[in-house]
Amino acid sequence: MALIVQKYGGSSVGTLDRIHHVASKIAEHKRNKHDIVVVVSAMYGETDRLIHLAHALTPHPDPREFDVLISTGEQVSMALLCMALHAIYCPARSFTSSQIGIQTDDVYNKARILNVKTDRIKSELQKGHVIVIAGFQGITQHGDITTLGRGGSDTTAVAIAAALRADECQIYTDVDGVYTTDPHLVPEAQLLPIISFEEMLEMASLGAKVLQMRSVELASKHNMPIRVLSTFSSGPGTLVTFEDKIMHKRLVSGIAFSQEEAIISLAGIPKQIGLEGLILDKISQAYIEIDMIAQNTTAQDTVDFTFTVQRREHSKALKIIEDVAKKMGATSVKTNAKVAKLSLVGIGMRSHTGVASVMFKALGEAGIPIQMITTSEIKISVVIDEAQLERGVRVVHQAFNLDQRPVLAENYIE
Ligand code: ASP
Ligand code: MG
Repeated sequence: MALIVQKYGGSSVGTLDRIHHVASKIAEHKRNKHDIVVVVSAMYGETDRLIHLAHALTPHPDPREFDVLISTGEQVSMALLCMALHAIYCPARSFTSSQIGIQTDDVYNKARILNVKTDRIKSELQKGHVIVIAGFQGITQHGDITTLGRGGSDTTAVAIAAALRADECQIYTDVDGVYTTDPHLVPEAQLLPIISFEEMLEMASLGAKVLQMRSVELASKHNMPIRVLSTFSSGPGTLVTFEDKIMHKRLVSGIAFSQEEAIISLAGIPKQIGLEGLILDKISQAYIEIDMIAQNTTAQDTVDFTFTVQRREHSKALKIIEDVAKKMGATSVKTNAKVAKLSLVGIGMRSHTGVASVMFKALGEAGIPIQMITTSEIKISVVIDEAQLERGVRVVHQAFNLDQRPVLAENYIE
């Protein structure tokens, strides 16, 4: 008998009809003699509604009370789902995270799970019940309610699956799984049958829409594979697992991108030791997060220094840098607040060369200038003009045959 943890997201339980549909899916798994632990999100839109209520009342709601408020949506879903299960004669019982003992730290709004107690779950499973648990919420050691950050029900599910050593952790959502890139941008994007934890984390900008990134980190730490599936269609979804489990490794798995970027560049800085630290010191004091950094020495023996920040911090960062540039004697500051980052992701890059040149050639042939490049072991990121992002993603996607079904053999490295 397999033990399966299933999580149903907000759109999966968004209406009473959908709750009935989810109940019948669960009952079917139960009939197949599986032990089922279900984690539910709030009904679609409910968490947003609660957040708006709080902010309409006061601009700075007390964090403790805020979590008490926004954790309630999940309690509604869990009770309704149990009622729907009872209506089809499937024994089920719902529990809040405090009833189960999902212990977190006391960082309200983005608490981390420290420990999951399993005794109550196990004893209820022994009675033959389906267990339905409220996602997104936890409890501090002092008994106060916390929440785990937006999308946190995924993390609840993974934490419970890991604590129970479940056979599978299934995340049911409204898409079929993880795609090679965003299908809204590139309709030819293909569903990935399997992807490694590491790739999934690198695909964050796409993946985050499907899975809370913290749940992927947790799953990777506890060796708990996750399967992302659609509630509304019957495909196998995408298995997110460790690299060793992937028999046929693809050279590249997908293309992630983020649009809200800005680039700032200081040119002609007279050389001095430690200038990099001096430039970024004030930026970090202002709590501005830096993403990419590049530096080079010019023929005149001065230094050019370029970095990217999130667009909403652009004007703040630029003001600081203009000041720094004056003090350090830089010849100019250039900036572009309308850039995007495009990242090619694949574990195959670890052992194969030539990936970057195919990518750069595709962009070059499309007439798309690259403004900055960074690489890691399994990722190559470039900064390009935001207006050219869509075409950039498309041509790189094509250059690696990511739009072919079945994916061409040459995209496999083993
Ligand atoms: N209901 C919460 C949210 O909307 C948690 C979740 O759905 O995972 O963020
Ligand atoms: Mg989600």
